[in-house]
Amino acid sequence: MAASEKIPAHLRTRGSMEASDRREAYPPMPEALEVAVYDNHAHLEIADGENPLDFREHLDRAGSVGVHGVIQVGTNVATSLWSADVAAVEPRVLAAVAIHPNEAPELHQKGTLDDALQVIDDLAKRPRVVAIGETGLDFFRTEGPLQPPQRRSFIEHIRLAKAHNLALQIHDRDAHHDVVDVLLKEGAPERTVFHCYSGDRELAEILNANGWYASFAGTVTFGNAKGVQESLAVMNKSRILIETDTPFLTPTPHRGKPNSPYMIPHTLRFMAKYLDTDVNLLAAQITDNTFDVYGRWDDNPPTIRTNPVTGEPWDELEPSRFHAS
Ligand SMILES: [Zn+2]
Repeated sequence: MAASEKIPAHLRTRGSMEASDRREAYPPMPEALEVAVYDNHAHLEIADGENPLDFREHLDRAGSVGVHGVIQVGTNVATSLWSADVAAVEPRVLAAVAIHPNEAPELHQKGTLDDALQVIDDLAKRPRVVAIGETGLDFFRTEGPLQPPQRRSFIEHIRLAKAHNLALQIHDRDAHHDVVDVLLKEGAPERTVFHCYSGDRELAEILNANGWYASFAGTVTFGNAKGVQESLAVMNKSRILIETDTPFLTPTPHRGKPNSPYMIPHTLRFMAKYLDTDVNLLAAQITDNTFDVYGRWDDNPPTIRTNPVTGEPWDELEPSRFHAS
């Protein structure tokens, strides 16, 4: 495994992922929240927009509007390593590690899925890795013959979450029934989160019945998201979380622009309005829930002053432009 003395600012760009040239500007800062919340799902390693923010710029902006921490989520070996490395030195970041359901079939075809799962197993032992994810099923992108390896990978991730006593973050796209089926058959981890919750009232009732969590992203603010909004109303308040899925799914009124954890206030304020409740009360409830699932960001503060991979001293972080300017 190649060891780098620097944590790179980004690992990939959204533009090349979507074969389009995204030259969008970041949206303006929203009004700050009074009660702190945490973004429980973001991919800060993806560069987006005409002037991409690096992870510390995202975190600085988030902190200035009351978003005090982020779970940085891996989707393959490289991004899971990056997530765990950043969490090891950055107090505002905890990490989730996994092979994404859209990556698992490809690795299976190359014959490297088991090696990749072994890396995830190793990373799960790091002190600031608090979740296995994102894993799950995606029948939107994955067709018939590739679904069995995707399912096998999901089952392995469930096993890892339980073995390491970590939370599980689930990616469920057009696969509600099968995701629930696998969870019930295998036995779900104690803390199971449906990331970017996309179900309807019926799925919300299933989550409530099993004590599973629904994490609401910017999609809940979209005009065509009636099922997600009805689910928000149905969910037990103790099982609601909030996320951005940065750089994707930017909430209204900035849909289509690059996303960042500092956009959480838009989603939170929409949720409070929809539920006809006070923003501060909802923020406090969601933060309690977040700590129940992942622990607190300062439970195991970063003590590492050496590169976790090479053992070299850690003075090589690339500077944050946001601080410098
Ligand atoms: Zn994600």
